[in-house]
Amino acid sequence: MSTAQALRKLRDRLPASARMPVVFLGHGTPMNAIEDTAYSRAWRSLGQSLPRPAAILVVSAHWMSRGTTLVDVSAMPRTIHDFHGFPQALFDQQYPAPGEPGLARDVVSLLASHRAQEDDTWGLDHGSWSVLKFLYPEHDVPVFQVSIDMTQDLSYQLEIGRTLSDLRDRGVLILGSGNVVHNLRAMQRGGRPHDFAIEFDSMFADRLSARDFGALADREGLGSLLTIAHPSVDHYLPALTIAGASDARDELTFMTDAIDLSSVSMRSFVFHAA
Ligand code: ZN
Repeated sequence: MSTAQALRKLRDRLPASARMPVVFLGHGTPMNAIEDTAYSRAWRSLGQSLPRPAAILVVSAHWMSRGTTLVDVSAMPRTIHDFHGFPQALFDQQYPAPGEPGLARDVVSLLASHRAQEDDTWGLDHGSWSVLKFLYPEHDVPVFQVSIDMTQDLSYQLEIGRTLSDLRDRGVLILGSGNVVHNLRAMQRGGRPHDFAIEFDSMFADRLSARDFGALADREGLGSLLTIAHPSVDHYLPALTIAGASDARDELTFMTDAIDLSSVSMRSFVFHAA
């Protein structure tokens, strides 16, 4: 199926809507899911201000694939507790939102040129549910995840975002969940932010505001600052997907721009249709 045919199918499935915002949230430690923090409060109030979506498509840092882009087509995505050494209360969390298999299959067709495939084994990892439980506490909006292909250039995620952006006109909320800076080895509880973390985070904000997404996806240009801010780019890629899904007319708003644990940027952002 061509991209144009896939788009026609999507348009038959979902009625036209006002153009939805696109959102990137820095999720940080899983503890944010069970603690009252400045972050969880910001997510809750964002959820109250967003238009109610027909469905949510989440690109989470924690679903990595190789050589393919996987799309979860399960009817009832399971809640995945993909972490170790945290309190039982975190393992007890459930986010029983329904999936959206029909729409997810249309997204597989839409992303055919990105080697998309159906998957029914994943579900919702903590990159998704730890923020969704504040955005939509009633877990009554259908949600499905799309993986990140770790074998591709950074620009690949910009292109995926661009391809997905048509969903914005069909009531679908595209949500990226990762962190703008994420170096677990340099993490320090109660420590001051590292210089590299401040430098990468503010460079990111400047380039994003200037809509210079090419610079944000230029591995060579970013050089050693990228490798220290992101020893692995999994938490960075969802931010690029969201940048790619924005357009020139959108207004950009930043939220929660603190550096947590010395090396994790909690910077979040929303592109709203103007
Ligand atoms: Zn994470």
